[in-house]
Formats: sequence, structure tokens, C-alpha cells
Amino acid sequence: MIIGIDLGTTNSLASAWLHGKPTLIPNALGEYLTPSCVSIDEDGQVLVGRAARDRLQTHPARSASVFKRYMGSGRALDLAGKGYHPEELSALVLRSLKADAEAMLGHEITEAIITVPAYFSDAQRKATRTAGQLAGLKVDRLLNEPTAAALAYGLHEAAPESQFLVFDLGGGTFDVSVLQMFEGVMEVRASAGDNMLGGEDFTQLLVHGYFAHSGVPETALDDASFRQRLIARADIAKRELAGNAPVTIALHWRDEEYSWTTDATQFARSAEALLARLWRPVEGALRDARIPASELNNVVLAGGATRMPLVRQQATRMFGRFPESTLDPDHVVALGAAVQAGLRMKDAALDDIVMTDVCPYSMGVEVAQHLPDGSRVSGFYSVVIERNTVVPTSRVGRYHPTAANQTAIDLQIYQGESRLVRDNIKLGSIEVPITRRNGQGGEVDVRFTYDANGLLEVEVVEIATSARHQLLITSSGHELSQAEIAERLKILSALKIHPRDTLANRSLLAEAERVFQLLLGANRDRFGQWVGLFEQALASQDERLITDRAAQLRRVIAQIEANGFLELEPV
Ligand code: ADP
Ligand code: MG
Repeated sequence: MIIGIDLGTTNSLASAWLHGKPTLIPNALGEYLTPSCVSIDEDGQVLVGRAARDRLQTHPARSASVFKRYMGSGRALDLAGKGYHPEELSALVLRSLKADAEAMLGHEITEAIITVPAYFSDAQRKATRTAGQLAGLKVDRLLNEPTAAALAYGLHEAAPESQFLVFDLGGGTFDVSVLQMFEGVMEVRASAGDNMLGGEDFTQLLVHGYFAHSGVPETALDDASFRQRLIARADIAKRELAGNAPVTIALHWRDEEYSWTTDATQFARSAEALLARLWRPVEGALRDARIPASELNNVVLAGGATRMPLVRQQATRMFGRFPESTLDPDHVVALGAAVQAGLRMKDAALDDIVMTDVCPYSMGVEVAQHLPDGSRVSGFYSVVIERNTVVPTSRVGRYHPTAANQTAIDLQIYQGESRLVRDNIKLGSIEVPITRRNGQGGEVDVRFTYDANGLLEVEVVEIATSARHQLLITSSGHELSQAEIAERLKILSALKIHPRDTLANRSLLAEAERVFQLLLGANRDRFGQWVGLFEQALASQDERLITDRAAQLRRVIAQIEANGFLELEPV
């Protein structure tokens, strides 16, 4: 049996084709969404999902998240003193989903269809396959996320020739893809996006609103634990604002309550700038695909953040129609992967063509910027080739040295869409000598040539002397070799994933630890006692006692999350 997996930046899900329909697979906590977070416990056991997300705050050095951003980059993340590639961290998430599937289906699972963003480069796709391999899963195929969303809606059974747009707003990224169905083949015609725009930005609006209007003293801004509680509350408020009733965020800081009430209208006003940013990628993708909005047969919503009525209204306005949204948007990609698995098992594979005729990323160099106060700051990204440019392509940018008597320019080359180079992926560097005296001369033209095979050539020419320097970047990423994979496999198999049957209790403890760190003084002591009672129950192995104390502890935590302190009597 082949399972489907949506390996997301924020959340991941597993699915299967069962009894003639796509079905989601719950994790050990009974939830479909497993946060894409990994943490290594003090005893070397791996925690994946909700517990790991809580431990990001209590044990940051032992926990990792958002590693999907770095797939195929060769960058290693430090976790409990050891370096792990994003492939390996993804493999741990996959292993946990595989175990969930095996628990539900009752047999071993060795094959999966994994979804990837349409814009993923060859290196990122290879890295995703490697992650599967490291998790003991043969990756039957990689499926583009927008194609999966279309499959979930059965669009492959629609008119033989149709075109649609998938509008996917996740936790931190916005992806727009225009797909075309032609002679039984579904093809991504163009993709565009903003990888600095997602549901979390809407949460931040409420965080800022609270600071501006609740009257909380400015010093609370520096209190990390207060901010953390506020973000958690703001995320809930964001969901509550789907209704018409006003929503109040009331939090305690240093024994004083500060509250702010907002409503959907006010939220809509503050979100205008974010909502406006949804336009550009949509227009870009339609322009690149050369399809006017009026000729789209369908618009499909995906990603948890499209549950916000505000986002839906904006999408309706953009396309002059109601988008498809009968399925839960944060399930559609996983459901579509299950449909593809079903088709594969019936041998009726739907060929999913990956666009290869556009360069999936922007590419550019690091530059310094002069700020209005006269200072100079480096680390900024200047794009030479824009994402989605048809390949082959060649573009040039002119750059000036920054220091008065500089003798060389050290060009750092990156791919990505972020404003700061540290958030992009480094491809290479080239140092060229220049002639510059007393702040004069030394300008260079930097030409990027990108061919259809994904080879990037960087040519630097000093204007004054016509001196030429070249650098060829062969792969847009770093692949693990077979030998490295074998070696990493050994290391990974030594890591034990926390057993599913006790994961719910372990997750509750991780959450309690996070909450404990939010508290101070007497509240902390009192809460520590509640946690102690739960631990005592765990040690007794008395199932009933464990269930009772777990419920008790959950109630206490809920109260703290709402108020910041305990009103309950001490234990
Ligand atoms: P990704 O594809 O990045 O893994 P998801 O599709 O799971 O992400 O989307 C996660 C985002 O969706 C988060 O920012 C979360 O706050 C947001 N979200 C989920 N449910 C809702 C809801 N009911 N209302 C508003 N936002 C939501
Ligand atoms: Mg997603």
C-alpha cells in the first residue's frame, strides 16, 4: 500500500486511499495535523509534533522547526550538540507519520507519495526523496502541492481541457500556481509566491494591536514569556475573529490585567496591507501562464490561513467568483496525495509534469545598504535573476565597492526571495581584484546566466579595466551521496522515536514544562505541584489515575494560558 504525505513547513499530514476515498490518518494524539517540529529528549529519544513544538521554547538547543526552508541547501542544523541535515529532520517527521499510518492500517508501510511545492528545485526534490529513503520509505513519486489540491477536488475528472489556480496560504508562505489540464496531463504552468507571507503575519497584527491599545507598559515587550503567552492568545483570537462577535484579549502582566477588545472590522482594516500583498503573486502567476483570471475554470483554496474569512473575501474579489472551499483547506494537499496513491495502485497514474522551463528561484548577490542616518549595513540581498524567469536567461547588475581604497570585491551569491541574505541559500562566492583610489573606480558588472539544466554562470567584469572573472555553479544545492546516506541512516536508526502509546502523556509533560517557564514565584511553585501530581500518577502506572490527573493538569494549563496565573487553590 502507498500512503500520501503532505510534508509541510508548519504542519505535516498522512493520508491513504481507503474504501474508495481519500482518508486522513490521525497521529498518536488523535490529531490530523502534526507540527513539523523535532526535538531530542534528554534520554536520546526523538519527539515529533506537538511535544517538539512545545520544547522549541523550553529546550531550543534540542529542538528544530521550519527546516523545510533549508531542504537541499547542504546547511546543517544543530540539535543537542550534533549537526542534522534538513533531510534527516524531515525523515524523523516522516518516520513518525509512517508509524501513525502503520498503527491505523495494521501493517507495515514502505511506500509513499510525498508532496512538494511546485517551485522546489531539483536539489530540493532530491533532498525530499532522500528524506523518504532515510525514513525507510520508498518515494513512489513526488507530487506538486497545487496538483495535489486539484486532485482532492477531483479536477482531474473535470473537463478534458481546463485551467485552474491554486491559492495556498500556509503558516509562513504563500504559493500561487496556475495549472492546466490537457489531454489527461496536469501541468503546472506557472508558480509565484511570497515566502515571507503567511498566517503567522496575521497573528502578529493582533500582537501589535494589543501592545498599542491594551495599555500594557512598554517594558512588557521585553518579557519573552509574556510575548509567548500573547502570541498563543493572539493565534486563538485570529480564529475567533471569523465570527461577528468582538474578541477580547486579556492577559496579566505583573499582577495587573491588560485587555484589548477588537472585532472583525477593525481586524480587516489592520490586515489591509497584508491582504494587498496577496495580489502580486496572483497577477504574476497569471501573467506568466498567459491566462486571464476570467478564463480560469476553478480557483482552489489550500493552507490553514485561507480559513480566515478575510482571506476568502479577498480571493473572491480577486477572481470575481467564490473559490472552491468545500474541503478543509489544511487537509486538501494530503487528501490529494491519497487520491494520487489510489490512482497509482489502480495503475492509472496521472502524469504530473514539473515545470522545467522557468527558474524556480530568484538569484542574486549580497550588498550593503546606506541608511538615512549615514551608516552602512551589509547582509542585504540584491536580485539579479528574478524567480520564474523563462530559461535560458542572462541578466546583468552593476555594483559599486563600498570602502574608499578597496582592492577586491568578494561577491557572495545566493538564491531565494528574502530581503536578508542570511535567510536565503548560499550558492557560492567569487573574489575579484579591483582598482580603486580614494573612493573612485572599481565598479563591476555582474552577469548571471542560467541555462535549462539549472547551471548558473556568474561573470564579473570590472568596468574600467574590462578584466573578466568567471564562476560556474553546477548544482543549485548539495546532495547527500549514497555513502553519506548510508552513514546518516546508521545514525538515524540509533535514534529511537518516542513510542506512540505514551506520546500523549509525554506531550502533556512537554506542554507543562513550557507553561512552567512562563510563571514566576508562588504561581510557579503551585503549578510545579500540579505537574508533580501528574508525574506521580505516571510513575504509579495506574491508568485511571493517569487519566484523571492528566485532565486536571490540562484544566490548570488552560487557565494559565488565559490569565497568566493560577486562580485554583494550591494542591
Ligand atoms: P504549512 O503549509 O506552512 O505547513 P498550514 O497549511 O498548516 O501550513 O497553515 C498553518 C497556518 O494556518 C497557521 O498560521 C495557522 O495559524 C493558520 N490557521 C489554521 N487554522 C486557522 C483558522 N481556523 N483561522 C485562521 N488561521 C488558521
Ligand atoms: Mg502546506
